[in-house]
Amino acid sequence: MSIENVVVIGSGPAGYTAANYLARAGLAPIVLTSSVEIGGALVNTTEVENFPGFVDGIQGPDLMDKLRQQAEKFGARLVYDDATALDLTGDVKTITTGSGTVYQAHAVVLAMGSAYRKLGVDGEERLSGYGVSWCAVCDGAFFRNQNIAVAGGGDSAVEEAMFLTRFADSVTLIHRRDQLRASKIMQDRALANPKITMRWNTQIVEAHGEDKLSRLSLRDTITGEDGVLDATGLFIAIGHDPRSALVAGQVDLDPDGYVKVQHPTTETNLPGVFACGDLVDRRYRQAITAAGTGCSAALDAEHYLAAQGLGTHTGAGTSVAVSA
Ligand code: NAP
Repeated sequence: MSIENVVVIGSGPAGYTAANYLARAGLAPIVLTSSVEIGGALVNTTEVENFPGFVDGIQGPDLMDKLRQQAEKFGARLVYDDATALDLTGDVKTITTGSGTVYQAHAVVLAMGSAYRKLGVDGEERLSGYGVSWCAVCDGAFFRNQNIAVAGGGDSAVEEAMFLTRFADSVTLIHRRDQLRASKIMQDRALANPKITMRWNTQIVEAHGEDKLSRLSLRDTITGEDGVLDATGLFIAIGHDPRSALVAGQVDLDPDGYVKVQHPTTETNLPGVFACGDLVDRRYRQAITAAGTGCSAALDAEHYLAAQGLGTHTGAGTSVAVSA
């Protein structure tokens, strides 16, 4: 079996940027994009206003498509498959995919990002897809003229609430504290929107409905008083958890599951294994910071390969298979 220079796992801003730099360095990386969520979390957003260089903003899916095109232009080889098993401990890393393909590589860049967090309340799973959703951009249009709730107090929750006002009669933003975590500009927009009602100091304790969501049981987080809200849609936007289950037990993780790296590098505890993006970052979690650490991971991987006398350079713009 041929041994790849480097395999990148993930196709968000971190993965595509790592792929771009690695490909431009002539290392012809394999990029496992995932089979479903290609392009990462930004493909589920609307307008991205703060990615540098886009003065008038850009739609999330368009931004990810541009990052993909740029990586492919330099010779990144995209594979629309999931990494399902990894052995990262030896000098040669083994990556098995959902379709059964096995790759071997001298270096691996982990850029699996993060996954939507769940409330963990009764009815949430059962009514998922039947009124309960984690993606307003994907599902919002199904909720025309309905009364919708959004859970969370960060930028995502506020953005989802704002987006849903296009369709809904009313949007109730349910937050467990009395202050939003969202940025000031987003808060101001939401609080000024006549369709959005704030429900402060409130947690959702159960989602009800036979075959579709109809009502939420609520509890006041200060007084403990119970309440109800009639709602036929619930959009949960309470943050994300790092997608690190695949590497647990091999790569060192912090107590919340974020991959530990030796700052300021992207080196993990395993030689030849680098991590970047939301998988690592509990603090900033922006598209641009993910792209930045993706760049760092590519440079770290490139230096690692060079130091080992490894890394078959194919020349920028080519995409041929490489062997050791
Ligand atoms: P976040 O900033 O971590 O906010 C999560 C929110 O959910 C917090 O308000 C938190 O409450 C609440 N929460 C967490 N667990 C909960 C639970 N079990 N039950 C009820 N509420 C819970 O996550 P995010 O909003 O997804 O944003 C992630 C990052 O992406 C942030 O850095 C954000 O700035 C960025 N982002 C930016 C934009 C933009 O600029 N357009 C858009 C979206 C996201 P507490 O406040 O009480 O902790």
